[in-house]
Amino acid sequence: MSASAESSVSSSGNAPLQAQLSIDFVVVGGGIAGLACALALRRVGHNVQVLERASYDGARGSGGVRVPPNLSKIFFHWGLRDALLRTAIVTTKLDFGRYESGENLGQHAWDEQLLKESRGSYLILSHADLYDVLFDAAVARGARVRHGCAVAGISAEGGAVTLAGGEVLRADVVVGADGEHGLARKEEYLFTAFGSGHAIIAYPMTGKIAIQVYAPDDGRAGHFGDEPCVDLSGIADGIGEIFKPAIACARKAIGPIPIKDHTDLEDWVSEDGALVLIGEAAHPFPPSTIQGTAMAVEDGAVLAKLFSHLSCPRQIRSFLHAFQELRQARVRAVRAGELQATFFMTADGPDALIRDAAMRAKAAAGRNVLDADAAKHGAEEEAVRGAAEAAAAAAAKWEEYRIVFGYDCEDEADDWWVQWGLLGERAREGTSEASDSEEGAGSGSGARRAPAPRIDFASAMTSVQVVEHSSSS
Ligand SMILES: Cc1cc2nc3c(=O)[nH]c(=O)nc-3n(C[C@H](O)[C@H](O)[C@H](O)COP(=O)(O)OP(=O)(O)OC[C@H]3O[C@@H](n4cnc5c(N)ncnc54)[C@H](O)[C@@H]3O)c2cc1C
Repeated sequence: MSASAESSVSSSGNAPLQAQLSIDFVVVGGGIAGLACALALRRVGHNVQVLERASYDGARGSGGVRVPPNLSKIFFHWGLRDALLRTAIVTTKLDFGRYESGENLGQHAWDEQLLKESRGSYLILSHADLYDVLFDAAVARGARVRHGCAVAGISAEGGAVTLAGGEVLRADVVVGADGEHGLARKEEYLFTAFGSGHAIIAYPMTGKIAIQVYAPDDGRAGHFGDEPCVDLSGIADGIGEIFKPAIACARKAIGPIPIKDHTDLEDWVSEDGALVLIGEAAHPFPPSTIQGTAMAVEDGAVLAKLFSHLSCPRQIRSFLHAFQELRQARVRAVRAGELQATFFMTADGPDALIRDAAMRAKAAAGRNVLDADAAKHGAEEEAVRGAAEAAAAAAAKWEEYRIVFGYDCEDEADDWWVQWGLLGERAREGTSEASDSEEGAGSGSGARRAPAPRIDFASAMTSVQVVEHSSSS
């Protein structure tokens, strides 16, 4: 346990409903998703063992993580506010600039009302600090976390995992949280090209600055956890003079990590309901997007909320299918939005002119640059004509943020229970056909949800470079 263990769990959060039937979970992968899921399941009274192949230090990243309000609200609810705020920085605004020239295109202050409605904050912190908080809280809650424990095989049926040393562990449910390249996710991805633009994102972490550079695909394929080995100056070609001093003193970069267009896995739950995938194993996100980590943690939160209602073994499959249904719709919609944001950021040529003109015009008017309506002054005539279109798109994106940030995944899980789970239970109690309603409880609720939007990759893009710059190095 790290030094902050005691204090990180000083406030235990809202007292959660305890499952009447406590079952055994084995979580394969002790990354952010695995730890968050373990903590959430312990909070509702299940037994959890987490198997992580890396050492404690090896599982912690040195880069930055953005924690949007839909994620921080879960952490706050779990009583982790104080522990997070010890190292996290609370953001109040976004600044935008041109990659090549460094020109300031204006800023967008977070809408206070939006944050209030979302019941969260927009935090930034290092992956390592977030890892410590979740690990300490999970262990303090009674989760068993084994580092240096590689899983060699997962049986999709029957709830068994085989460790590298040959030991076989059994559980009622195996949770595959072993990431994009893990055993649990058996799928090939497609590489996709996203235009030719660059972009840079920078934000402070305690005592350091995280820099992420987006650049055209150069065919290399790095992973999180790799040793930093790439010179940032070699990636950030064409970058403006203003950024060069920071680039020059940045330490070596991790990556380049490609952005991939993954085939969606149809099933996150095995036939017999003994294996469920969460986090990157279920739905890889482009690296370093705002919502990748958030979706991984939401998965664990929803799983635990559903399993807090467990009172008999036959419910396990129904809850896992409900989990899949709730999460697939949410994750697909959010991921499509994240990819569109990457297009927006890295847009080149005429699209970039339009985007920048719209921002300049708003900044000149003293407004938030992602505000809804187009301003009529500022840049070249052609660009200004396009600004209305760009501003409308930006405004739509902002509205999307409102929805994404406002979403409360635990409430959604509770809603499922009230609308479908309980209904199934009552039908089961009341009629002989009730066994069908248990099966249908997950799929029945699907009728109320619109199909998730899919992104069109036809014109698409490239690669992302994830790097870190330490101001002290
Ligand atoms: C070392 C590391 C550093 C990272 N740093 C950053 C960062 O700085 N910024 C950022 O935005 N995102 C970072 N990420 C990615 C980020 O954690 C994920 O995008 C997101 O949080 C979802 O995580 P996940 O837990 O689903 O998957 P992952 O983070 O990929 O975690 C999966 C875990 O499963 C373990 N695992 C894989 N196979 C096995 C096996 N066979 N047996 C046992 N364990 C196994 C891996 O070691 C890993 O710890 C990092 C990931 C890792 C693994």
